[in-house]
Amino acid sequence: PPRLEVRNLYRQYGNRTVVDDVSLSIEPGQVTCLLGPSGCGKSTTLRMIAGVDMQDRGEIYVDGKLICDTVYRVPPERRKIGLMFQDFALFPHMSVADNVAFGLKDSAPKKRLRVEELMEKVGLSWAIDQAPHHLSGGEQQRVALARALAPRPRIMLMDEPFSGLDNRLRDDIRDETLALLKDEDTAVLLVTHEPEEALRMADEIALMRDGRIVQQGSPYNIYNAP
Ligand code: ADP
Ligand code: ADP
Repeated sequence: PPRLEVRNLYRQYGNRTVVDDVSLSIEPGQVTCLLGPSGCGKSTTLRMIAGVDMQDRGEIYVDGKLICDTVYRVPPERRKIGLMFQDFALFPHMSVADNVAFGLKDSAPKKRLRVEELMEKVGLSWAIDQAPHHLSGGEQQRVALARALAPRPRIMLMDEPFSGLDNRLRDDIRDETLALLKDEDTAVLLVTHEPEEALRMADEIALMRDGRIVQQGSPYNIYNAP
């Protein structure tokens, strides 16, 4: 089965339909970008998949298992879904290691091993016992990625995760992030309003407008369609 499958999702706010019959499926190891202008319903779609907002209609499956429909609902913390948002900052009063271990429920030595493994993968072993404010913006972003990956999520939801970074850093961090996500075997749904970001990151692009997915395919197919 697909890693993530969303079927016929609807969401209204008041009498406005902001997500209108959205269906998506993402295979293991794949990155799908939800691309569209501000206000078209991308974040609302992501929030429903994360379980912090509730759809009016439709179903969500992870690895073929129903996690949410209009009557049944697995709580967010049990969905095996990781989150990375633009303003999802590190906890400033915790060390880097405690930040990365935050979502882990293992014994202290097992937590430490996982934290060390991830800090090595993001190239920040030296920073493990630092306070977050000693790190640069790009380094903090890498720690946030390590924190999101620590509990081994099946799916990573990313909402404009790179928009707080300088242009100079962004391409490198995008590439490193992709490599690490593939290495950890996590499927990704990434929201962006920048076509350039979708082209760089996506295996599959879903173009969204006014709550609907209007076109879906590989970057090549999306940009070369008649
Ligand atoms: P995007 O992520 O594509 O910018 P959003 O999903 O954030 O779009 O928003 C889609 C539309 O729904 C926007 O018009 C937004 O103002 C509206 N909206 C989002 N969240 C709420 C909410 N909690 N209550 C009412 N309207 C909302
Ligand atoms: P972004 O698109 O930058 O991710 P959103 O537009 O989704 O941010 O808004 C962030 C928060 O504000 C969300 O919790 C959302 O529910 C709320 N929100 C957005 N638009 C509205 C709105 N029109 N009315 C009420 N709440 C809203």
